[in-house]
Amino acid sequence: MDLLGDTMEIRFLGVGEACDGNQPNTSILLKTDAHETAGRILLDCGFSAPHQYLSLNPSAEELETLWISHFHGDHFLGSPLLLLWFWEMNRAKPLNIIGPPGIKVKIEQAMELAYPNFMSRLGYPLLFQELTPEKNLQISDSIWKTAYSEHSQPCLSLRLELNGKSIFYSGDGRPTPMTRSLAAGCDIIIHEAYGFEDSVSGHGSISTCLDFARNCGAKRLALVHMQRNVRIQCADVVANFQRELADIEIMIPEKGSTISV
Ligand SMILES: [Zn+2]
Ligand SMILES: [Zn+2]
Repeated sequence: MDLLGDTMEIRFLGVGEACDGNQPNTSILLKTDAHETAGRILLDCGFSAPHQYLSLNPSAEELETLWISHFHGDHFLGSPLLLLWFWEMNRAKPLNIIGPPGIKVKIEQAMELAYPNFMSRLGYPLLFQELTPEKNLQISDSIWKTAYSEHSQPCLSLRLELNGKSIFYSGDGRPTPMTRSLAAGCDIIIHEAYGFEDSVSGHGSISTCLDFARNCGAKRLALVHMQRNVRIQCADVVANFQRELADIEIMIPEKGSTISV
């Protein structure tokens, strides 16, 4: 393995909410080895994620683990196409699929609707793992910990420790006391910020994210899954926050943005 020094590369395949016609659904790819073309861990796989992923020309076996935060379509309904592509490319290597309780049934149901009778023909094993806040998981050199956010579907926020770094990814939903404590000390917070303020039930906001990042001691905050009109109008608001919070780097990634942690 040829690690990227002591860093890890985070690529934002998409940063949009479900209905944003200009930004693909929020989906994040993690690359820890210089030999990888795209990356080995994919966080969420909504409607538009597979095409963003495939545009990178990855090898069919380099993705090791797919994480699904919750069962809204903009976070998991790209999975059937991804699984179909692995089949078409003759993948043999097992794929880890990790998510909330019910992950196996949901993926099987989605696959059956999208591509009937394909699940049994894939030709590579799917290794499902259900996670809950009570259960941590170690897969090779990565440690996975979760907490429930406040969302209209049960949604797990994730703390992923890998390469000596820790990444927090909210999935959808407002912070909770559990997600705040999960995020403590993380190197980067990637959080949904649907509104300017907490005006939409079950969704986060720019101002709440800043408070969240400050409380957990993060140095970097990436705002994703913004409501499409908020996204267009947010530059001045975020710039004002940035002036007040010199110790936190606030990012508004675009589709394709890549950062190192
Ligand atoms: Zn959702
Ligand atoms: Zn969403």
